[in-house]
Amino acid sequence: MARPKNVKHIFVTGGVISSLGKGILSASLGFLLKSRGLRVAIQKYDPYINVDPGTMSPYQHGEVYVTDDGAETDLDLGHYERFLDESTSQASNLTMGRVYKSVIDKERKGEYLGGTVQVVPHVIDEIKEKMGELARNGSLDVLITEIGGTIGDIESLPFLEAMRQLKLEIGERNLLNIHLTYVPYIKAACELKTKPTQHSVKMLLETGIQPDILVCRSEKPLSKEIKGKVGHFCNVNEQDVVGMNDCETIYEVPLLLLKEQLDLRVMKKLSLKKFREPNLSYWREFCDKVKHPKDGEITIGLCGKYTEYPDAYKSILESFVHAGAANDVKVSLRLFRAEDAEDPKFDLGKALEGVSGLLVAPGFGDRGIEGKVQFIRYARENNIPFFGICLGMQCATIEFARNVCGMTDANSTEFNKRSRFPVIDLMEQQKKVKEKGGTMRLGSYPCIIREESKAYEVYRKFLINERHRHRYEFNNQFRKAFEEKGMIFSGTSPNGDLVEIVELKDHRWFVAVQFHPELKSRVQKVHPLFSGFVKAAKEFAQGTRQLTLEVEMPRLTSTEMDTAG
Ligand code: GLN
Repeated sequence: MARPKNVKHIFVTGGVISSLGKGILSASLGFLLKSRGLRVAIQKYDPYINVDPGTMSPYQHGEVYVTDDGAETDLDLGHYERFLDESTSQASNLTMGRVYKSVIDKERKGEYLGGTVQVVPHVIDEIKEKMGELARNGSLDVLITEIGGTIGDIESLPFLEAMRQLKLEIGERNLLNIHLTYVPYIKAACELKTKPTQHSVKMLLETGIQPDILVCRSEKPLSKEIKGKVGHFCNVNEQDVVGMNDCETIYEVPLLLLKEQLDLRVMKKLSLKKFREPNLSYWREFCDKVKHPKDGEITIGLCGKYTEYPDAYKSILESFVHAGAANDVKVSLRLFRAEDAEDPKFDLGKALEGVSGLLVAPGFGDRGIEGKVQFIRYARENNIPFFGICLGMQCATIEFARNVCGMTDANSTEFNKRSRFPVIDLMEQQKKVKEKGGTMRLGSYPCIIREESKAYEVYRKFLINERHRHRYEFNNQFRKAFEEKGMIFSGTSPNGDLVEIVELKDHRWFVAVQFHPELKSRVQKVHPLFSGFVKAAKEFAQGTRQLTLEVEMPRLTSTEMDTAG
């Protein structure tokens, strides 16, 4: 395989169990190497046969992360962007489905004419070819590849075989394997146990791969003895056994790995000489604000249909961490299952007690729509800061149509094709679309912002670019009627055709957007809409507390006052 000179490969694999944090490990290592002056990119390889996760339910796969160039990808790419402050692209996420598709397409074109197409060598060669794609096209020093799944899965074997062959071809100074394993703490024995790690490495050895560095996830820090034991049985130098114990926030992981000198071990093994001392003061300050915000805690309600599985809202959750730090508060989220509000006995006032802002989440399909409309109505009528994203924005316009404009059966044609007031309708370009995969309005599009709007107040610019993932849009037939009743169309596509942002004139903070701002919030660049929403919620919380204090002050002692509200 043609390999551009000097690009070093790091492969991150996982053992024992899933959900150990391979994505966070890859993102943290990438961030540390970048902080030392290296040019880094991260990519994710997923073993499933779907061409991309766009066709999977959020219950199966969590959030679908959309890149600027419109790829529907794995949520780990969100971590890469948030930590590294670099945009990913279609080339950053490869699935086994995409590999097979490409091999089968080539076979049909006759590119293997005369041959029997097999996993070895054709599928493996295809993977190796793709493994170098980002390295060939970018100006990089290091390319980190995270391999999805857990060692022992049948599905990921071709990826591992490709990695093994690549190492042989390009040499051990140019490729290393970091294996993330689990070292459980057994309470009854008061001991950390290394056996699962030993077994996982054994399984990796069966594929012909000797890990170069072991990162051990554990509840408690690893002692020198445990590191020595792991190293001894897994054939790894003790110094190359790195501890990754639980942290209060994922953003502390790079700081922990810096202490463990993971970046230095990697650089030594890959003969990466060029480096500077990383300046992580900004990052440390950020972590400090996340852990100990000066202005206490506020509660924000998140209403959606996948709330039992918060990974479905990963980027939204992380955006609130960023926006909380920017406003010096901890944002604690109260999750609401939208359809619960459809029960006539459900008490919205009670559910939203103490909530200083409400976010209605993106989604597809009609489950929970009526509940979302109820939640939005409550926030609008009670002047509670409101933020709607994609479907959340569409529901906000349905609610406004029904309860302010008197269009009683207003709806989106996604849910009711026969509504007399189809305020949300299929986009023109979508009408002829038959296939489901990768056919929505996807990726980054420009939006023009109107002055004198909440949107302008937060963005402070007239032209923005945001990422999209939807098929339906606001129906322009209803713009005039909505404007007359106080809705402001504060953001549109440059030609004015597509509504991108709506807000309410007579409301404390009611902003809803057709795009997905959560996909662009980063530690270094907190998204202005999240930051603005949290600011409004914080002011609302302080306002109500003050109100409570004013009324109750005569009866409170000074110590009681600290906890009032
Ligand atoms: N289901 C809506 C649409 O396709 C909203 C999509 C979303 O929230 N991402 O337009």
